[in-house]
Amino acid sequence: MVFDLLVIGGGVNGCAIARDAAGRGLSVALAEMGDLASATSSASTKLIHGGLRYLEHFEFRLVREALAEREVMLRAAPHLVRPMTFVLPHEAGLRPAWMIRAGLFLYDHLAQRGLLDGSRRVALRGTAFGAPLRPEYETGFTYADCRVDDARLVVAYALAALELGADIRVRTKVLDARRETDRWVARLADKESETEVEARVIVNAAGPHVSQVLHDGLGITSRKHVRLVKGSHIVTRRLFDGDHAYILQNSDRRVIFAIPYEQDFTLVGTTDVTYEGAPGPAAIDAAEISYLLAAINRCFARQIEEADIVWSYSGLRPLFDDGALEASVVTRDYAFDLDFSGAPALSVFGGKITTARRLAEHALDELRPAFPKLAPAWTERATLPGGDFDAADFAGFLAGFRRDWPFLEEGLALRLARAYGTRAALFLRDARKMEDLGRDFGCGLTQAELAHLVTEEWARSAEDVLWRRTKLGLHLRERERVEVELMLAAHLGNK
Ligand code: FAD
Repeated sequence: MVFDLLVIGGGVNGCAIARDAAGRGLSVALAEMGDLASATSSASTKLIHGGLRYLEHFEFRLVREALAEREVMLRAAPHLVRPMTFVLPHEAGLRPAWMIRAGLFLYDHLAQRGLLDGSRRVALRGTAFGAPLRPEYETGFTYADCRVDDARLVVAYALAALELGADIRVRTKVLDARRETDRWVARLADKESETEVEARVIVNAAGPHVSQVLHDGLGITSRKHVRLVKGSHIVTRRLFDGDHAYILQNSDRRVIFAIPYEQDFTLVGTTDVTYEGAPGPAAIDAAEISYLLAAINRCFARQIEEADIVWSYSGLRPLFDDGALEASVVTRDYAFDLDFSGAPALSVFGGKITTARRLAEHALDELRPAFPKLAPAWTERATLPGGDFDAADFAGFLAGFRRDWPFLEEGLALRLARAYGTRAALFLRDARKMEDLGRDFGCGLTQAELAHLVTEEWARSAEDVLWRRTKLGLHLRERERVEVELMLAAHLGNK
C-alpha cells in the first residue's frame, strides 16, 4: 500500500498532524523511534498558555494563537487540560506595575475567553496567595492559564489518529527515505526487522532531530535550521498550599514557574541553556540546579536546597533558529520547511504543546497542493479520546465517575478520571471492588490499568508507564517500580 502521509516522530506535533490528516480522509502512517512523547513533549512545563513573557518579544501572532488555543484545548480534553490561577508577585526593582498591567490587558483581550477568568490585581500580604512568599511582597497580579498532562495529551492525539485509521508504530525508527517519481520509499527499523513504507508525502516532525532527518535522512538541503535550547525542571515536595501556581520574576528578566504537581509536589522551572551537543536525552546540570533553587529562595520564605529535590527532568526545545544571540529570546513561534521538488516533504521547526493542533491545521493547509481534494479543517470543535464530557463541569464528571465505581478510593478515582476521562470505562468496566481490577502494584496502579496501557496505549516499558502514561514513578517505592517492570516484561513476553 502507498500511504498518503508518513509522519516521522510521535511527539505532540507529529501526533497532532497524524490525527488531523487522518480525519481529513488521508491514509496515514506514523513512526516513532522511542515511546510516544519520549523526547521534548514529556519534558515541558506542562502549560497550555498564551506565554505572557513572549509579549515582551513582540510575538503577538504566537500569543494570540496560543491564547485562543487554551479554550479550544480545554473543550477538547477537559480531563487533561484544566484552568489554573497564576500569581505574579510585584517587585519594585523589576518590571514596573504599568508594564505588567499593559501585558495582562493584552493577555485578557488578544483572544476571546469563555471558560477562563481575566487578570486582576491582588493583595499578597496576609492572604493565602502571599502566605509562602517573603514578607516584602505586598501586592501582585493574578491571571488564568491552563496546565496539561503533556505526555497524555500526545497519547490522546495518537489514539484519535488510530481511531481514524492511522497506522501508529512505536519503537520504529525511520532510517532514511528516497524519492521515486511520485512517492517516497522510507526504510523503517524496529527491534526485529527492517521494512519499507511508501508514502506520497513525508512530514518530518522529528523535534530536536528535525535538521538531521531533513539533511541526512531525506537528502534535502534547507536554509532553515533547528536551534536546540535545553530546559530543565526540578520537583520538590509541596512548597505551598492551594491550587494556584506562581510566576516568579527573576533578576535576569526571565520568569520561573512554581506549579502544584501530582498532589504532593511542586514543579519548578525552567532554564534556557544553549545546547551544542547532538540531539538526544538531556540532563540537568549543577548550574541549572543552583539557578532554580536561587529563583525559589529569592521569592519564597521557606528556603530550599539540593536535598529537597526529589526528581528532575530536562528537554531540548527544537526552536526555529532566527539568529537570536541569547537562548531565551529565540522565537518560540514555529516555521515549516516545504520541499516540493519531487514527492513533497514538510518539516516542522519549533511549536508548543499549546499550539500543536493549530500547527497541524497549518501543516495540512500547506500540503493542499499535494492533496487537492483534502477535506476542510475539522479539529477546532472536536474532542479528543476521553474528553467527551462537559468541559465546564469536571466536578460533575467526577461525581458520575464515583457513582459508577464507588469502591475506588477518592484520590484514585480522581487520578483515573483525570488521566483517562471517559476512556477509564475501557478497563474499569463492571468492576465492583478493587480485587476485580487484579493485583495492585501500589497507589492503585492495577493489573487492569497496566494491561490497558499496553494493549490500548502503546506502553512497552516501566518508564513508559511510570513516568509518561502515569506519573506514579514519583509515588511508588523502588521495589514496587521493579515489580511493574517484571510484570510488563512477562506481559509483553507472552504477547
Ligand atoms: P518531540 O516531542 O521531541 O518529538 C519528536 C519525536 O521524533 C521524538 O519522540 C523522537 O523520538 C522522534 N524521532 C526523531 N527522529 C526520528 C526518526 N528518525 N524516526 C522516528 N522517530 C524519530 N510548550 C508548551 O506549550 N507549554 C509549555 O509549558 C512548554 N514548556 C516547555 C518547557 C521546556 C523545558 C521545553 C524543552 C519545551 C517546552 N514547551 C512547552 C515546548 C514543547 O514541549 C515542544 O515545543 C514540543 O514538545 C515539541 O514537540 P515535537 O513533536 O516537535 O518534538
